[in-house]
Amino acid sequence: MPGATPSPAPAPAPAPGPAPGPLDLSLLYRGPLASCDYDCPYCPFAKRRDTPAQLRTDRAALERFTGWVAGRGGTGDTLSVLFTPWGEGLVRSWYRRAMVELSRLPHVRRVAIQTNLSCRTGWLAEADLDSLALWVTYHPGQIDHDRFLAKCRELDALGVRYSIGVVGQPEHLAAARRLRTELPPAVYLWINAAEGRTYTDAEAAEWTALDPHFGYSRHAHPSAGRACRTGESVLSVDGDGTVRRCHFVREELGNLYDGSYRARLGPRACPLPVCDCHIGYVHLETLPLYDVFAGGVLERIPHIR
Ligand code: SF4
Ligand code: SF4
Repeated sequence: MPGATPSPAPAPAPAPGPAPGPLDLSLLYRGPLASCDYDCPYCPFAKRRDTPAQLRTDRAALERFTGWVAGRGGTGDTLSVLFTPWGEGLVRSWYRRAMVELSRLPHVRRVAIQTNLSCRTGWLAEADLDSLALWVTYHPGQIDHDRFLAKCRELDALGVRYSIGVVGQPEHLAAARRLRTELPPAVYLWINAAEGRTYTDAEAAEWTALDPHFGYSRHAHPSAGRACRTGESVLSVDGDGTVRRCHFVREELGNLYDGSYRARLGPRACPLPVCDCHIGYVHLETLPLYDVFAGGVLERIPHIR
């Protein structure tokens, strides 16, 4: 329109500035895989049956990611990786292979995955078990107790570091108690507050008797304006390489594969009102969880019991 004042271009998102040389980053990778061999009624994910084409896409994305991680060797960067698939990764050969290959890289401090442990375990013997760890969830309605416990014993025999968790549904309490008595005392059993459920103090006490850190999961954490390590030393990466600060904040920081994310790294306050998932709030600087989980932040293994 003649004479109209052009509307100003939207202001670019503030850029914290170029990142300094070598980085020590934790990457939470979630590719397109969305199928699972279990069917938990409380599953928070919109599961689907992946088609062969979708599985090929997921495999290619994962192999691109692991190739990028391998390529950071010699740059001075050190990396820790947690795979957080929407579905179950370890029933797919490419996730097992990624775990083994990444575990053997000297610049990879840790490689971990969230899993239901339905996979076989023999492949773990090929991994460097100083850096590999498993975040295991036990789903009592989906696997027989003794079969699950036998899997845990296989992990113990191999010397695999792992934590095991249970969703804090009332119908899981007996199974969680039994598992606690049968697991080695050194294995941490975590309890996640069930989504949408509030716990009376008496109920919370029952779960806290199993997991002394249940209090951190019981309530969502107010996070707006609070310092969170995501976006600075912790990043979320999707199958296309899109980098975000975490899985919950949609703003993009750039792309892993063209390096554009590096200039956007820096301290940022959380823009969301609350953070209610362990893989997020563990990174809040206002919580003491880097001390509680020192040495095992990604795989949820506490240093302090
Ligand atoms: S194992 Fe996890 S992803 Fe699979 S159905 Fe259960 S909650 Fe969902
Ligand atoms: S507190 Fe949670 S939601 Fe907020 S930035 Fe950190 S991880 Fe993301």
